[in-house]
Amino acid sequence: MSIDLHSHTDQSDGSLSPQMLIELAEKNGVQMLSITDHDTVSAYHLINNVPKNMHLIKGVEISCSWNNATIHILGLNINITEEYLLKNLEIQSKQRLIRAGKIAKILVKLGITDPLTRVMELAGNNIGRPHFAQYLLEIGKVRTREEAFKKYLGNGKPGDVKFEWMETKTAIECIKNAGGIAVLAHPAAYKYTNTKLNRLLKEFKEFGGQGIEVISGSQTSAITNNLTSLAIKYDFFGSQGSDFHEYKNGYSSLGKCVPLSPSIQPVWNLF
Ligand code: AMP
Ligand code: MN
Ligand code: MN
Ligand code: MN
Repeated sequence: MSIDLHSHTDQSDGSLSPQMLIELAEKNGVQMLSITDHDTVSAYHLINNVPKNMHLIKGVEISCSWNNATIHILGLNINITEEYLLKNLEIQSKQRLIRAGKIAKILVKLGITDPLTRVMELAGNNIGRPHFAQYLLEIGKVRTREEAFKKYLGNGKPGDVKFEWMETKTAIECIKNAGGIAVLAHPAAYKYTNTKLNRLLKEFKEFGGQGIEVISGSQTSAITNNLTSLAIKYDFFGSQGSDFHEYKNGYSSLGKCVPLSPSIQPVWNLF
């Protein structure tokens, strides 16, 4: 069965509308899909047709602070009307707007004219750094969005403003309150040493986290093997997802995940 539990729509920083994403998933043979937009569940209110043979798992990807840095936690199989979750996502969305103002101010200082007007237009009501990257691309300041992160928006760059998301503990509480499963997203993406990653996993477990994304996009087999051992070590359920955002050398990456090791309990056994 083809399963993809991590994907984005234009309700956050993806390029497809929620309905278009579902249609692409169907075309790619995905039988279980979760749309996990950054800090919002609005996609779920815009879907009018789910194919009969597709199991849609309601989800979200929450940005949170851990140890003075940002990590992402997936909430899978959540009740998208749960009030505590919605209240905290609402705060997060306001915080995104405040952060965008700060980023815009810095870019203006660097000689970029009025970024906020166009970025707000691109972002709708859920603004993020990728929308700034898109604007920098549009005005020809960079040739790719990756370059925009490298020069302006990524770790340690001027537009990487100091910022506090909700605490990791709060994010897990939100997910659990909404009846969902908290899964640490793309653990290898934080580029932590093994010692630090072990510390994160230990705390994540103590806070009530139940799973980790063992398969994320097209990672190397060395990473997959390491995450498989860590899932076993900490007794985490394993999840898999493409983290699909947009067209990139074709649309085939939605739903494309190498299989989880049989030595791990799949998170979808809990749904
Ligand atoms: P934000 O939540 O606004 O801080 O934006 C984070 C998003 O930016 C991630 O979910 C990625 O989709 C995207 N992103 C982060 N780093 C890069 C990068 N180096 N190149 C391209 N996109 C990136
Ligand atoms: Mn993203
Ligand atoms: Mn992420
Ligand atoms: Mn993601």
